[in-house]
Amino acid sequence: MIKIHNLNFEYPGILALDNVSLRVERGDITALVGPNGAGKTTLLRCIAALETPISGAISINGIDVLNNPRQVHRQLGYLADFYGLYGQLSVNQSLRYAAMAHSIAQEKVNDAVQRAAERLEIADRLSQKVATLSRGLTQRVAIAQAIVHEPQLLLLDEPASGLDPEARHSLSELFLSLQAQGMTLVVSSHILAELEEYSTSMVIIRDGKIVEHQQLKDRAGQAILVRVMTSKPSPALIAKLAEHNGVQLVESGETSCLFRFTGDDQAVHEILAALIRHNVPVCHFGQDKINMHDAYLARVAQLKQEAAP
Ligand code: ATP
Repeated sequence: MIKIHNLNFEYPGILALDNVSLRVERGDITALVGPNGAGKTTLLRCIAALETPISGAISINGIDVLNNPRQVHRQLGYLADFYGLYGQLSVNQSLRYAAMAHSIAQEKVNDAVQRAAERLEIADRLSQKVATLSRGLTQRVAIAQAIVHEPQLLLLDEPASGLDPEARHSLSELFLSLQAQGMTLVVSSHILAELEEYSTSMVIIRDGKIVEHQQLKDRAGQAILVRVMTSKPSPALIAKLAEHNGVQLVESGETSCLFRFTGDDQAVHEILAALIRHNVPVCHFGQDKINMHDAYLARVAQLKQEAAP
């Protein structure tokens, strides 16, 4: 869906993106994480054809972003980290405005507005002025604007900032439902616990460079971490699991091991059967929740260690 090759972007005196290459597959929800000033917004703006990099290439669905920005805009929705809405317009007018800006045919505008409002659960607010909405409801209007033309790709820069826990949870559910309807999403956020609920992969960006691209779940949302508890994790256990293609050891503790695994239910079953067959003392075997926070901090600590003299 998105292919980025050797992208460099410079603000005067600052190399904000440094040789970035990235592939995002259709149906993925990619979490873009990294410290303040890492380059996340800049990368999203380049993908959205809102900035011109000094070198490199970006394509969306095979369309070159730099050469065909208008064509790309039809295929994507973008929610900026600081967006502006017209407070004196009603929600209905705001969505109509966005629909028309995306060149939706006049006779289809009403349907498009209604669908976007229903998706964001703001259909009961259509006649209300934006200036009178709460922070969370305003955020929903902004997201509804970004999807009113039903884009294939949705780029969201800090979409959950300012939302209450319930609104964040419903936003997570919305993202999963948009994904289920075939949309590809790239979401930048600092709230890792929330990204964990829906992301299929995590991209860590630091100092303008992508330092990690980790798959977290398969596209159907299936967890791919398997925790095996044994009375004593042994190298033999690790070897047995490693016999299965694609199984990677993520962490090994006193009484448990955590493996990353990308197979389906049948393959998970085969691993368990093999462990039992080989008499590995399994006490517990189950899929584990992704812990993005730990994965992020572990990678950052590793990078700092590598950089230390
Ligand atoms: P945050 O998490 O704080 O939103 P970010 O990862 O989105 O940060 P960017 O906004 O992409 O980071 O900024 C990347 C770098 O580019 C930073 O060093 C920032 O100061 C610089 N930068 C961003 N916008 C501009 C600008 N308009 N002019 C000059 N430098 C800029």
